[in-house]
Amino acid sequence: MRLDRGEKRDLNDALPNALCAMQTLSLDPKYMKTHYTIPFFIHHEGCTHRCVFCDQRNITGRSTVAPEDISHTIDQYLKTMSDHASVEAAFFGGSFTGLSRKRQAELLGPVKEYIDSGKIKGIRLSTRPDLVDPGGARFLKKNGVTCVELGVQSMSEEVLRLSGRGHIAEDTVKASGAVLGEGLSLGHQIMLGLPGSSFEKEMYTARMAVRLGASQVRIYPTVVIEGTVLAEMWKRGEYVPLSEEEALSRSADILSYFNSEGIKVLRCGLHPSEELSSGGKLLAGPFHPAFRLKAESIIFGRMLRSILDEGPDAVSKVSYNPDDECALRGYGAMNSSVITELRRLKPDGFLSPSSNVTRGRLTVERNV
Ligand code: SF4
Repeated sequence: MRLDRGEKRDLNDALPNALCAMQTLSLDPKYMKTHYTIPFFIHHEGCTHRCVFCDQRNITGRSTVAPEDISHTIDQYLKTMSDHASVEAAFFGGSFTGLSRKRQAELLGPVKEYIDSGKIKGIRLSTRPDLVDPGGARFLKKNGVTCVELGVQSMSEEVLRLSGRGHIAEDTVKASGAVLGEGLSLGHQIMLGLPGSSFEKEMYTARMAVRLGASQVRIYPTVVIEGTVLAEMWKRGEYVPLSEEEALSRSADILSYFNSEGIKVLRCGLHPSEELSSGGKLLAGPFHPAFRLKAESIIFGRMLRSILDEGPDAVSKVSYNPDDECALRGYGAMNSSVITELRRLKPDGFLSPSSNVTRGRLTVERNV
C-alpha cells in the first residue's frame, strides 16, 4: 500500500506552471478546497510481506501513530479548516487490517468520536487484499470506516510473484467483494512498471478495477528507493524502471480509460514528499512532482490534435472544465502549438471553459 497525503493535487501539480499557480492562489471561492484528508501513517504495521519496491520508512520519513496523539492531531487540522469543509481521516503506509483488532480499535476509536459529533465524515484506510474478509470489513464499518483502498498493484500473477507481494489476484477479487458487501467505498491502488509487467497487464489491471467495482483509484509508476529489494535488483541489472516518457504514456492511457468509465483518479504519480523531492533516497524511476499534470497534458494534447485532424469545418465548438485549464495548455505549455493552430482556424470562443464539462474531458459540438 503506498502512501498518500490527501487530495492536494491541485496545488502540488500546478506549481510548475506559473499561470496555473496564480489561479490556485486566487481567493476566488471556486479555487478553494472543500475536501480535506487528515493522514496518519502507520509505517509497515500489519504488513505480512516486504514488497520488493516498498520502503515506507524512506517514503514517509515519519514515526508511527500513537492512539493518544490522534485527537490532538485532528484538532490541530480542524482549526485550519472551514466549518463547511468535508473532512475525512485516513490511515496509510501499512496494512491496516493486518493489525490486531485491538490495535485497529485503538486507532479508529478516537476518530469515531469525531464522526459521531459530525466533525469528520469518515475514515479511509489502505490495506493488502489478502487481509480483508467479510468479517473484517464488517468490523471496519462498525468503527467508522467508509472507504477501503486495496493495494492491488497488479492482477497479473507473474507480476505479483516477482514483486514479492505474497498474495494472488483472486485475493483482490474476494476482498473487493467483501468491501462492497458492507456498503463501503472501494479503492484500488495500482502500479505501473513493476517487475515482469507490461502495458497490456496494466490495462488488464485497470479493467479489473472497474469490473470489481472500484469507484476510485490511485496510479503509481514504480520508482527505485534505496534500501528496497528492488534497489538491489536494479543495481544488479535485473530490473529496469520505466522511462519517464513510457510511464507518462501508459499513465495517460490508463487515466483516459478511468475518465471514460467515470472512475475517480485520486492520484497519479508518487507524492512529492520532502524525502523524495530532496533526491536523497530515490535511485531511479519516473518520479516527477508534476507527474499527473504531465500525463493529463498528454491526454489533452491527443484530444486537441484529433480535433485538428478532423478539419476546421467539422467542429463548431469545444468546451473544457475550467479546472483543466493547466492540463489543456499543457505542462510547460506543451499544447500551445495545437491550441494556437485551432484558434487560427476557428473564431473567438471556439475553445472555451464550461463548468458543465466533466473534468478530464472535452465536449465537442460537431457541424451536421
Ligand atoms: S504491503 Fe507491501 S507495499 Fe503495502 S505497505 Fe506493506 S510492504 Fe509496503
